[in-house]
Amino acid sequence: MKFFAKAAAFLVTLLVATDGAFAASPLTTLIPDSASVPIIMYHRITPKRSELNTWAITPEEFESDLKFFSDNGFSTVFMSDLVSFVQGTGSLPDKPLVITFDDGDSSVLTRALPLLEKYDMRAVFAVVGSITDEYSTWDPGARKPHLAWDEVNQLISTGRFEVQNHSYALHSSIGPTRRLKGESDERLSARLSGDWLQASGRIKDMTGTVPTTYVYPYGSKSDFTDRLAKRLGFAATLTCADHVNLITRGDSDCLIGLGRTNRPHGKATETVCGKFLNTTRADT
Ligand SMILES: [Zn+2]
Repeated sequence: MKFFAKAAAFLVTLLVATDGAFAASPLTTLIPDSASVPIIMYHRITPKRSELNTWAITPEEFESDLKFFSDNGFSTVFMSDLVSFVQGTGSLPDKPLVITFDDGDSSVLTRALPLLEKYDMRAVFAVVGSITDEYSTWDPGARKPHLAWDEVNQLISTGRFEVQNHSYALHSSIGPTRRLKGESDERLSARLSGDWLQASGRIKDMTGTVPTTYVYPYGSKSDFTDRLAKRLGFAATLTCADHVNLITRGDSDCLIGLGRTNRPHGKATETVCGKFLNTTRADT
């Protein structure tokens, strides 16, 4: 899909040196007020072939993706950068891209971090509060498949990771935001609000970060849940709908229900990410 992004003209006054003196010379330039933003979704990186699937890829596949992003001029940004851009308090680089990891798998620390450092990139990871709590008391000698809070903080301290909210305890395969049988709007709202705010509170208490974004488990969402997320103060929500996003300054709704492209095992980088190249931000 090709986006025809709008651009807004701003009068910029630059000081230009003339004959040893400085004079104000008005120049007109175009500052883009929208951008195409692909968001890619990962879960787990593992070299074990028996564990590879739609949500688990090899380190080589992950590195191939990063090399593709680097070779094609993408700059990775955080969700907070998209929020700042929309709110008019920040800018975006040319060809912004968001790398996301769902669920807080321990390979984010052991496999993703070294490769992100190698390619000088950033990523957003969304944790499930109850799982992070559970693995924070895990037997230190046992294999630990999910991140504990100290590891979450370790990732944040690198400056390459931003943590977001993936529910406290609604990560179940039965449809985490689906209405229960006979559940009224009020009860549904109370059930989801309680869980989402518990997760945000836990993340804030344990990391000092206030999540800006709710990442829907399994992408399960509705207009009702999106309205609720906004009411609770989330600036953005992430789904699993596979499309590139148009982010527009001043349009807070454009951050609600953002699409993401899942990266499965067994496909070439160009097959998964080729569509990222067909979108452009507003020209300057
Ligand atoms: Zn998940």
